[in-house]
Amino acid sequence: MSGAILPGSRVGVLGSGQLGRMFAIAARRMGYRVHTFSPDYDTPTGQVADVEVRGQWDDLDAVREFARNVDVVTFEFENVSSASTAAAAEFAPVRPDGSVLNTTQNRKREKRFLASIGIPVAPFEVVESRDALDAAVARIGRPSVLKSAGFGYDGKGQSKIMADTDLGAAWTGAGGNECVLEAFIHFEREVSVVAARGLDGSFEHFEVVENSHSRHILDVTTAPAIVPDAVRRDAVEITRCIFERLGVVGVLCVEFFLESSGRLLVNELAPRPHNSGHFTFDACVTSQFEQQLRAVCGLPLGSTVQLRPAAMANLLGDLWAQGEPDWESVCTMPDVKLHLYGKAEPRPGRKMGHLTVLADSPGEAARRVVAARERCARGGR
Ligand code: AMP
Repeated sequence: MSGAILPGSRVGVLGSGQLGRMFAIAARRMGYRVHTFSPDYDTPTGQVADVEVRGQWDDLDAVREFARNVDVVTFEFENVSSASTAAAAEFAPVRPDGSVLNTTQNRKREKRFLASIGIPVAPFEVVESRDALDAAVARIGRPSVLKSAGFGYDGKGQSKIMADTDLGAAWTGAGGNECVLEAFIHFEREVSVVAARGLDGSFEHFEVVENSHSRHILDVTTAPAIVPDAVRRDAVEITRCIFERLGVVGVLCVEFFLESSGRLLVNELAPRPHNSGHFTFDACVTSQFEQQLRAVCGLPLGSTVQLRPAAMANLLGDLWAQGEPDWESVCTMPDVKLHLYGKAEPRPGRKMGHLTVLADSPGEAARRVVAARERCARGGR
């Protein structure tokens, strides 16, 4: 553990959303000082950090100044440019390394990397012009999914290509830039593995969890996923392999499609704590946020043991359609854990918070967390 960045030190977070907020809560609990950097003010992270620095992502001098004042830099937002991570790295270690970010922030690079190391992914083609799209669709077939290569999350910059879809409109809808065309996968379920790798190469994971999505946005995570042992082993081994080959120091989530045959295909990587790991905050000995802190500070990784089956339901801005949700009724349910991210504007689809429930089985936890969410929505009307 020599060279570890110990409690009392300053950790810098690039980005200022809810992932940074929960990271900051975990870090401050352990006595670290947290600085956050983003173009915004009074942010979810800034509200709980020690220092909130406001700066533009492409202002490299501002990024350098930020890094000069901390002992290690990590991020909670993956669209930080290589130039910014390199500028930060002049003054403090950046973990995970900027190269991890560079690979995972762009679907073309990510898919090519995964395919190059033999990880199963959906059949795909990189499409770099409108003209190339026709040929790519002819090869991949319909239905397929067109995704912009950069800056995509929660289904943004994505469209499904059906038998009658006009390709011109799909190309424009995906941003009219470099894209990846993927075969549409008729998966049985979606699962993910959140894991961490320490500075010493140690690896710990939070088991396989099941995710259900609504409008391409994560809706409910059930932990653990009830899957055959072979699927569990494959998912963990694929995750471990990705960590090793990418050289990740920190937390990363691997999202998978699980086919009815038991075959796993990797859909996406997120080089940071992930929405599907939020349940760990309440349900595990060490949360994904504390694990990120431990990894990037060079501390030994914590135990990932899950204390009880759990489920997490997202609270999106839509829940505010009829006014403020009924928090009072949520608070009358003693086993429901409420997390709100301190965002002032509840836009539709915006992640405003989440609920977690621990129960005797994953199915029971999922039923109860969905019921709790319905109750606070109803109360709000
Ligand atoms: P992504 O932004 O790539 O994570 O996509 C968001 C969601 O869209 C996924 O979680 C899936 O539910 C769905 N999706 C994305 N790609 C595909 C695909 N190739 N086949 C079927 N569904 C997909």
